[in-house]
Amino acid sequence: MSPRSVLITGCNRGIGLEFVKQFLSMKQPPKHLFATCRNPAEAADLQALQAGHSNLHILQLEVTDESRYASLAEEVGAIVEENGLNLLINNAGILIRTNLPDVTAEVMKKTFDVNSIAPILISQAFLPLLKRAADAQKDAPLGWARAAIVNVSSKVGSCDDNKRGGLYAYRASKAALNVCTVSLARDLFKDGILATVVHPGWVLTDIGTKNALIESSESISGMLKVMQGLNEETNASFYDYAGKLIPW
Ligand code: NDP
Repeated sequence: MSPRSVLITGCNRGIGLEFVKQFLSMKQPPKHLFATCRNPAEAADLQALQAGHSNLHILQLEVTDESRYASLAEEVGAIVEENGLNLLINNAGILIRTNLPDVTAEVMKKTFDVNSIAPILISQAFLPLLKRAADAQKDAPLGWARAAIVNVSSKVGSCDDNKRGGLYAYRASKAALNVCTVSLARDLFKDGILATVVHPGWVLTDIGTKNALIESSESISGMLKVMQGLNEETNASFYDYAGKLIPW
């Protein structure tokens, strides 16, 4: 079973855009797919997709703009009504390459704002709609079709995997996202909402650069399989797009 409604952040390019494409081409696509981006008027690829898909809603969101969260949740709530929002994917992210000689407080804070703080506060803002979805399908198994938060993390946020050092801001921001996602999973389990992080692999996007190893199509089809398999046992876990468990 696939989720009836999905909201994804950072959808105008890269991994977010490919998520939108693959959700739309599912056998059972979401009834409502909310693709957020900073500037819908300039999101040409999303607009082109919308022409053939009336279930695609393009909504404006700068993820660090807390003053926007309530009105966004209201817009989504008015569309999903009593069914709530099944799946929230916090995807938007930034990578500012700084190593020890050049890392600054400003870069650390900016990276945390986008990669760590925004996903948690957006999850908080959408909690009533996620709870509504979990309640609306009380008899359905726990998972993405009922209610879940998936935060797009990165293997470089793993302490265990950090053999090369560097990338202070990005690594720390994803590690913070990881630990907060586990807290979300623990706090929300009683409400029937799961939460997890996924690593997309090293993907050919602006963040991944042209040295990356895989196309976004391979990454996203893999992550969708992982997300489809999300259940009580795999809750609060750190899988990559190929279904391999990453140590924290
Ligand atoms: P891209 O740079 O291609 O896309 C980043 C997306 O995030 C864009 O849509 C961008 O919007 C959006 N974004 C950035 N800052 C904000 C903001 N403040 N508010 C709203 N949207 C914002 O990168 P990817 O697609 O590769 O990255 C997506 C996610 O995947 C990120 O969380 C990244 O950390 C993660 N990831 C990527 C890997 C890779 O190899 N590509 C590896 C591991 C993790 P805009 O166009 O307006 O800037």
